[in-house]
Amino acid sequence: MADLSAFSESYAEARAKFLEAAAPAVAHYRHPQANGPSGEKLFLDVAVIGPADAPRVLAAGCGTHGIEGYSGSAALTHWLRSGGAQRMPRDAAVVLFHAHNPWGFAHKTRTTEENVDLNRNFIDFSRPLPVNRGYDELHGMVTPETWNEATIRNIFKELDAFRQRVGEKAFSDAFNGGQYAHADGIYYGGERAQWANGAFRRAVREHLGRARHVAFIDLHTGIGPRYEHVYLCFHPQGSPGYERARAWWGERAVNRAGVTHKALAAYSGTIIDAFSAMLPEAETTAIVVEFGTLPREGVQRAGMAQRWLRFEGAKHPELANQVQREYEEAFYPSEPRWRECVLAQSLEFLDRGVAGISYV
Ligand SMILES: [Zn+2]
Repeated sequence: MADLSAFSESYAEARAKFLEAAAPAVAHYRHPQANGPSGEKLFLDVAVIGPADAPRVLAAGCGTHGIEGYSGSAALTHWLRSGGAQRMPRDAAVVLFHAHNPWGFAHKTRTTEENVDLNRNFIDFSRPLPVNRGYDELHGMVTPETWNEATIRNIFKELDAFRQRVGEKAFSDAFNGGQYAHADGIYYGGERAQWANGAFRRAVREHLGRARHVAFIDLHTGIGPRYEHVYLCFHPQGSPGYERARAWWGERAVNRAGVTHKALAAYSGTIIDAFSAMLPEAETTAIVVEFGTLPREGVQRAGMAQRWLRFEGAKHPELANQVQREYEEAFYPSEPRWRECVLAQSLEFLDRGVAGISYV
């Protein structure tokens, strides 16, 4: 049985393990207002392993979607504990971001303190907000007041009809591409930059601004077959970033192998797009890695459950407890085999990232 001690059941526990494994090389960005459920302070913590002025940097981060950070945190801590720093060449550094969205991480939910999906929040708020007419149509459907099997079955029936009418791609765009008009909806991108958005930008400027070759892996859970990880590469086909991802992690890094969506949405405001845009002087390779948990319908159900919990759950405390447990299993499975797979696979692709950035 593998050592699963890198996994945690609270934000404070995960943070303590990460800080200990990365010590002393950690900078802290504290959330000025919000706290965790037990009043704990919230931070984006950034560990710099290797020279601060390294020209080649592999960055990896977790918790863009709050609760999904439990497995990403374990992956980063495990890599540090396994002696990852000793496996690095001298002119490269690894920069690890712990808890992009610490509020969601601590409260075991996907969104920020303003119900914002941080991975739709990196848009230019000085311009008119993106419009998602498809979501406008779905909003009433996916935001039920009551949560029970009959209601959920009915929602999926209506979603199927919508999908058949508009096609897979338009369905994905509508459902989870991101929307900016319904603050009490799902995949809400917000009406202003979140604290977590600003903290990430500051950290990138401060710790990566001097690097010339930078790669970034944003760790998630949800999409993909259980016990496996999938890559989401958004560099245009044939571009240098696309070719680097393919050279470092293989064909599956770019061909969407294993992705459980029939058509992926055109996401707006993602953290990996923002990452590359923030470093125009550097050659960047940015990729999402998802540890698969449930079939797509299960993840969709969880997305709607999260929204129900937030806006209706307080009226039904007993049911809310049960839905919360089901929700947590969808993004942070407790099954030991699943957790073992996260550790073994992340060790390998993080080391491959280090090797890749070292020889570009
Ligand atoms: Zn995610």
